Amino acid sequence: MTTEAFSRMQPFVLKALTAVKRRHCAAPNYAPDAPVADQIACPKCGGRLNYTVDTKGMTSARCASAGCVKWSLQ
Ligand SMILES: [Zn+2]
Repeated sequence: MTTEAFSRMQPFVLKALTAVKRRHCAAPNYAPDAPVADQIACPKCGGRLNYTVDTKGMTSARCASAGCVKWSLQ
């Protein structure tokens, strides 16, 4: 992820990313014991935001709505 990409990250992405990290990447391991695939309500459109978390704590997500919140490996 480049610095430029981060600066253009939308507030909704940061909000959803924070929610996922809080749920699955808490101290002390900052990563789940097993890979996670789940969904939360999209903070932007209220739709389904499907996400995955690997055992290194890297998360990827994509909203069910086209052109909405998504990110990979953050
Ligand atoms: Zn959405």
